[in-house]
Amino acid sequence: MAKVLCVLYDDPVNGMPKKYARDGVPEITSYPGGQTAPTPDAIDFTPGELLGSVSGELGLRRFLESQGHTLVVTSDKDGPDSVFERELHDAEVVISQPFWPAYLTAERIAKAPKLKLALTAGIGSDHVDLQAAIERGVTVAEVTYCNSISVAEHVVMMILSQVRNYLPSHEWVKKGGWNIADCVERAYDLEGMHVGTVAAGRIGIAVLRRLKPFDVKLHYTDRHRLSAEIERELNLTWHDSVESMVKVCDIVTINCPLHPETEHLFNEKMISKMKRGAYIVNTARGKICDRDAIVHALETGQLAGYAGDVWFPQPAPRDHPWRTMPHQGMTPHTSGTTLSAQTRYAAGTREILECWFGERPIRDEYLIVDGGKLAGTGAHSYSAGNATKGSEEASRFKVA
Ligand code: NDP
Repeated sequence: MAKVLCVLYDDPVNGMPKKYARDGVPEITSYPGGQTAPTPDAIDFTPGELLGSVSGELGLRRFLESQGHTLVVTSDKDGPDSVFERELHDAEVVISQPFWPAYLTAERIAKAPKLKLALTAGIGSDHVDLQAAIERGVTVAEVTYCNSISVAEHVVMMILSQVRNYLPSHEWVKKGGWNIADCVERAYDLEGMHVGTVAAGRIGIAVLRRLKPFDVKLHYTDRHRLSAEIERELNLTWHDSVESMVKVCDIVTINCPLHPETEHLFNEKMISKMKRGAYIVNTARGKICDRDAIVHALETGQLAGYAGDVWFPQPAPRDHPWRTMPHQGMTPHTSGTTLSAQTRYAAGTREILECWFGERPIRDEYLIVDGGKLAGTGAHSYSAGNATKGSEEASRFKVA
């Protein structure tokens, strides 16, 4: 029987909700392009409830314990004295979420001789040293598409809120003011602007589709070009490099995975090639941007704004400069963990575990690493290597 070690974010400070704002979430059975939403044999939770925090347990306890497995759930994930490190030595399966990632570095994988499956309850497995997983034969899987649309909605919200100067205007209302000029001195319309996405995968395309009705000019760059049909439908301009795209864009949205090719892609050099006064919206991964280069560009005015919900490491230390830099609309990593998204990634996690313990194949689209190599979605969207370096800094959040 297996030990399943699951790392989830903390419950709300006032405890689990006794009542929810709405009575349910719409049922989504398939995604654009036809991939079906998760199809576990059963679920032991009510869709629309908080499943992603410790007490929610992703709705897994009854299922796992009924099969004789052990489930350990904790939010204490960083540093050598954490519950995660104490429990890791005999775990067969580690489940973690990108929002509150249990960084599976090479050192930690070496301390877990029984580890066979690293499962991401969400999308994005860069918190796992994929090179070490490849070398150790650990399978890495994630719930592809479960929250891609959730993120695309967040991107559109952040683009509008930055360009229209929404957050500072809202602050004036709360302060009791009516300061129209203060609110609008940085406010523009989105209409007519050039918007480009770095990567046109599931999220990138969903962002492009949602932006089209705003009468903007759409651009993209990606390792694989989209079909002529989609390019025509969305009136897209393709660029063969990020540099070529950022030169002409007023807004750049980043939607690629973090892997060695994309780590610190937006450094001082890349940002200097952007139009003065451009905006960046990054909901992909914090480390795709160079932390200090972003702060500097906002301070000098090279960037008019930066928004996103991804940081490095996570949780971000309390003195992380992105918390206080000017003209930013940062949120903690929440875009992919709405109650709607949780329903899907909890069901997807259950589906993957049912396959794993039932010795049935995991869907190809959920695989990142398998059989000692990149596989499935991983083989298409990632490159081998490690992007977890520096993650130990996450433990500073606890002591600050
Ligand atoms: P997909 O796998 O559908 O798309 C990723 C795309 O990135 C692919 O089209 C891939 O290209 C492209 N890509 C990879 N490397 C590069 C590169 N060097 N330059 C340009 N394009 C590149 O994933 P999703 O769209 O669903 O998710 C994308 C990322 O968003 C995730 O990996 C994750 O990091 C992040 N995410 C964030 C969430 C949040 O809550 N904030 C939630 C979900 C995801 P190709 O396949 O053509 O090689």
